[in-house]
Amino acid sequence: MHHSADAGGHRIILDAGTGLRLFGNSVHATPPLLFHLCLSHFHWDHIQGIPFFKHLYVPNNEIIIYGPADSDEAIYERMQGQMGSDYFPISIDALQSSVRYVAIGEKSFDILNARVSTLRANHPGPTVLYRVDVGDKSVVFAPDNEIPPPSTDPELADVARRVADFAQGADLLIHDCMYSAASYESHRGWGHTAGAALAAVAAEAQVQRVLLFHHSPDDDDGAVEAIHDEFRTALRDDTIGSEPAREGVCYAL
Ligand SMILES: [Zn+2]
Ligand SMILES: [Zn+2]
Repeated sequence: MHHSADAGGHRIILDAGTGLRLFGNSVHATPPLLFHLCLSHFHWDHIQGIPFFKHLYVPNNEIIIYGPADSDEAIYERMQGQMGSDYFPISIDALQSSVRYVAIGEKSFDILNARVSTLRANHPGPTVLYRVDVGDKSVVFAPDNEIPPPSTDPELADVARRVADFAQGADLLIHDCMYSAASYESHRGWGHTAGAALAAVAAEAQVQRVLLFHHSPDDDDGAVEAIHDEFRTALRDDTIGSEPAREGVCYAL
């Protein structure tokens, strides 16, 4: 899965899972092309499409890879490791395109007319959420983020408040909703969210629509729908649209 937005010839891509390959194959514009690849973190399910992104191998293309790291060099080293000779036949140093690495923390920056903002996620290891605003349209991408259930622990309560502030008024909130209420109980602290906690944040943020994301690979469609039902039951707000995320779907904001 990946998510992309087109900002005046600059393409913003959010994460680089297996969907990145098909997205790359669907882009037929004449090179040179410029891609901004914004990574939430470096867990496998968010980077494994990178070696299969064909635009890496096109001369004069430019790809800027953003990610949460202490230095630009640290991102390069992770990519170098991922494409090391034990894992992949082509070295990161043999790419024909020009690749740059940009370490980000919590910040906002502009890509042409798009405002890109990040927020630290509640997930194992350095992880960020992204918000992209273009004109009066906005999407928030929170693929891996644990919103704890309502809690008296101020630190846990703060997570929900921070995410709601970050997502305030978004047209589309793509958010981790991996667990049912029952499965969450045995996975507290694993860095993923269940429906009721997400519903509270979506209502607080007054987003237009929510895509429930990061389905468990163990869940079939019925289990995913059941998690969505739990989310709707907890939401109690008919003005907010929602559905489980599906591969290959386009949303016009
Ligand atoms: Zn993760
Ligand atoms: Zn993940």
